[in-house]
Amino acid sequence: MLREVLKQIEQRDSFVLTSHARPDGDAIGSALACCQVLRLMGKAAEVVLRDGVPRIYQALPFADKVVQAQRANGKYDAAIVLECDSIQRTRLHGLEESFLINIDHHLSGRPFAHVNWIDPHAVATAEMIYRLAGEAGVTISPEIATCLYTAVLTDTGSFMFEGTNERTFALARELVLAGADPAHCARNVYFAHSTAKLRLLGAALSDLHRDGPLAWISVTQEQMERFAAKEEDCEGLVNYVLSIQNVEVAVFFRELPGGNFRVSLRSKGQLNVAEVAVKFGGGGHQCASGCAVDGPLSVAVARILAEIRSRPAAPPRTQP
Ligand code: 5GP
Repeated sequence: MLREVLKQIEQRDSFVLTSHARPDGDAIGSALACCQVLRLMGKAAEVVLRDGVPRIYQALPFADKVVQAQRANGKYDAAIVLECDSIQRTRLHGLEESFLINIDHHLSGRPFAHVNWIDPHAVATAEMIYRLAGEAGVTISPEIATCLYTAVLTDTGSFMFEGTNERTFALARELVLAGADPAHCARNVYFAHSTAKLRLLGAALSDLHRDGPLAWISVTQEQMERFAAKEEDCEGLVNYVLSIQNVEVAVFFRELPGGNFRVSLRSKGQLNVAEVAVKFGGGGHQCASGCAVDGPLSVAVARILAEIRSRPAAPPRTQP
């Protein structure tokens, strides 16, 4: 399929690249890197995102060139949708009529495009872009390497999530050799949080719920407003819950302005949380997934926990 993707790219001249709304490190890093690869192939390309670039990724090369828009307006020969299981999830209008190329590494990836390259064995979509560049004969510049390395770093949870293997480190090595600076990449991502995010974290953790191997936290709209927090300030909060010893599954509930909830699920590996998210129309990976559920909070929590507890591999219910 890599060859087919390359063939389709070679036959065209201009591209719009996009990814899912609320983009994470792999979405941003892969899109920026892929855009550069296309340009080095002599193509016209630009990244258009519904939600723009989160603070911690704004120092990435070419992040300042990302167009934040509700619609992909330009005249493009094709749209490349990265890290995303549908055009709806991009929340970008104007893609419907385009020739679509889908590049995704999610287990829950869907063949919604004209050409679908879905590889759940890839540790991040960035790994697929690295292979695409190799197949196209494009030399990885330090800027491309920085984008790809940051994507791999964040999507593997700093090389800690299940699925991280010797190929991941081989890829990281290649990217460092190509000019990515690991300390610099890590500093921008892990030591550049907003004050609001830390305040939000404090509030959420002070109301942590624990039921044996299951733990969860939530953030309300009132807290978001009180701390002047942005949506992106919620990214990664769930990982603090998973960091507790003997917690196998962590859940984060974030109230949305309409009163329903975004849910982030994380697992240490015993439970496939992608299956849980898919039940609610979401998706993701075995150890990191997400979905949306209706409120109020008590109902959202009850539905998600019931689904987790009903799974065969679910951790046994014990006293807190
Ligand atoms: P997060 O909890 O950080 O938002 O997402 C964790 C993982 O699940 C990411 O790989 C993300 O792309 C995926 N994910 C989160 N929400 C959804 C969703 O609503 N649909 C799908 N298909 N994937 C999701």
